[in-house]
Amino acid sequence: MKPLLTKENFKCDRYCGECCKKMLVAVSNKDIKNIEKLGYKKESFVMKDVFNSKRKFLKKEENGWCVFLEKEKDGKYSCKIHKDRPEVCQKYPFFPGTPKEIKSCLPEDLYPNVFFKMPSRK
Ligand code: SF4
Ligand code: SF4
Repeated sequence: MKPLLTKENFKCDRYCGECCKKMLVAVSNKDIKNIEKLGYKKESFVMKDVFNSKRKFLKKEENGWCVFLEKEKDGKYSCKIHKDRPEVCQKYPFFPGTPKEIKSCLPEDLYPNVFFKMPSRK
């Protein structure tokens, strides 16, 4: 039986991109500065929370994917800014409130009550 995932043993091993397709990623000013240093213009990757202009998120493509998500030739997904990805992405899937042991890192398994309207596992 596959061992449960913990903060200590977790390593993304499928590169399915599901988290980057479905989750909304909050970014801090520090995250934004780090990404700008790579040459990206803020307007190209940041969107404001319509309910709270102080909160900012990574922009999504029309299909729901994070703007930095890329599909590789082998069908796996990668992050164009992996080394400088936002803190939220570095911490995924373990946040305050996440159980210490989880069976899966897929968004629909972690948050079964959330409706993800974007296509999955494609
Ligand atoms: S959902 Fe899990 S396996 Fe898929 S890319 Fe995200 S962390 Fe990796
Ligand atoms: S920044 Fe990278 S790791 Fe974070 S959601 Fe976008 S593609 Fe995924």
